[in-house]
Amino acid sequence: MTKRVAIIGAGPSGLAQLRAFQSAAEKGAEVPEIVCFEKQSNWGGLWNYTWRTGLDQYGEPVHGSMYRYLWSNGPKEGLEFADYSFEEHFGKQIASYPPRAVLFDYIEGRVKKAGVRDQIRFETAVRWVQKTDAGFDVTVCDLPNDRTYTESFDHVIVASGHFSTPNVPQFDGFESFKGRTLHAHDFRDAMEFAGKDILIVGTSYSAEDIGSQLWKYGAKTITVSHRTAPMGYDWPGNWQEVPLLTKVEGNTAHFKDGTTKDVDAVILCTGYKHHFPYMPDDLRLQTANRLASSDLYKGVSFVPEPDLFYLGMQDQWFTFNMFDAQAWYVRDVIMGRIAMPDKAAMEADVADRIAREDAGEDDYDAIWYQGDYIKELIADTDYPDFDVEGACQAFKEWKGHKKKDIMTFRNNAYKSVITGTMAPIHHTPWKDALDDSLEVYLQN
Ligand code: FAD
Ligand code: NAP
Ligand code: MG
Repeated sequence: MTKRVAIIGAGPSGLAQLRAFQSAAEKGAEVPEIVCFEKQSNWGGLWNYTWRTGLDQYGEPVHGSMYRYLWSNGPKEGLEFADYSFEEHFGKQIASYPPRAVLFDYIEGRVKKAGVRDQIRFETAVRWVQKTDAGFDVTVCDLPNDRTYTESFDHVIVASGHFSTPNVPQFDGFESFKGRTLHAHDFRDAMEFAGKDILIVGTSYSAEDIGSQLWKYGAKTITVSHRTAPMGYDWPGNWQEVPLLTKVEGNTAHFKDGTTKDVDAVILCTGYKHHFPYMPDDLRLQTANRLASSDLYKGVSFVPEPDLFYLGMQDQWFTFNMFDAQAWYVRDVIMGRIAMPDKAAMEADVADRIAREDAGEDDYDAIWYQGDYIKELIADTDYPDFDVEGACQAFKEWKGHKKKDIMTFRNNAYKSVITGTMAPIHHTPWKDALDDSLEVYLQN
């Protein structure tokens, strides 16, 4: 009997899985029946922009954490699909830091070409997964029809992302703060904060990028509060870094070093939680946001229950091409092309990954660690080989460009590791490019 495989989520990870199976079918292999459940009405995951925040029209938590005017924060040369280059999609080489709409178009192009849309049940939220003697029962809700039903599968692949459920710390005085308090997950449009004094808590990518958006679209001042260490870039004049927030009183924010700042809004850029409300305890991944996730053999197979897989659960330097490497690997395990070792060997694999990550000293070690992980996976499958080392080098240059000038790093260009061609320099510096639509970005 044909195996049945459930994929949860049609973002970049779930779509990589659909494309992986389709590419095997294209080469004549007998592939399982695939059903992908996606709670939104379209594919693309976080790249499918929504203006909504909070709950959606069906009362489901809004998945989207992206905002208007978001551009890629790393060079596209680090994430290019090895089987579908930017040049193939756009008919020409394009600049290196595409805005969200351009990357959405690229992601969509590959799966349109693959013809996998009819394998996705949109507006269908996964409610519960249960282990059975034969495999898994997956209970879902067809949201528009408000109808809940259950189907059985041999394998479940979780691809529901981990940058959607906000981590929201409490600070003293928030109850009576006279301004607005929000988490990065609910941030949508920097224009709202033009002319205002804004406090950001956190020092990672959301803090850096939302702060930069605020600067670009005219905030009066940006104050960034750190728990561990300041980001340390050479910020513009109206931007300061301060120690951790201790409390707010009225409109005044107080910091650990005794200094204060009056602010109109606090944006908590304090990260996200791995959150799988549809998973019982025995199937639920519990991990920190790190490169070597807990409990995942080869970073994908759930050790306590190896017929269950998780994609894209690592912290991410690499994204799309790493999800591809994982998806091709999972496909080959499910299709019996790759054998799984016993449980002790799987546990040893996880422990070894954690130890190797912990031995790394800096971001460069982390980038190469994740690059090596991709190489390791693609060595075992027919995912097209590509110059992973070259992609690591692009990330290294990227970090150098950020250090040099955090507000101009997106004006640089890098060489594609898939086609070998150099990207053009974008026609407008990032800070002046207020219209970031696909049409304008692609103009020569
Ligand atoms: P997601 O994109 O999160 O997709 C998961 C999908 O699962 C969603 O479509 C969701 O609706 C669906 N889903 C969730 N729960 C259920 C359920 N119960 N039932 C059915 N469906 C469900 N990466 C980059 O490479 N470059 C960038 O510039 C970049 N910018 C980012 C900016 C922000 C603000 C954030 C938060 C992340 C950014 N990322 C970026 C990283 C991002 O994680 C990846 O690019 C990518 O979107 C991850 O793909 P995914 O498929 O694993 O998860
Ligand atoms: P993150 O990388 O997990 O960072 C979380 C931050 O919150 C850290 O600085 C952490 O500080 C801080 N924090 C957590 N709890 C805190 C507390 N109680 N008090 C003070 N600080 C606290 O999350 P993220 O920045 O949201 O990034 C998530 C993903 O989105 C990344 O993959 C990123 O690349 C992506 N992203 C991309 C763009 C883009 O431009 N395209 C924009 C935004 C985000 P410590 O260091 O002290 O732990
Ligand atoms: Mg190979």
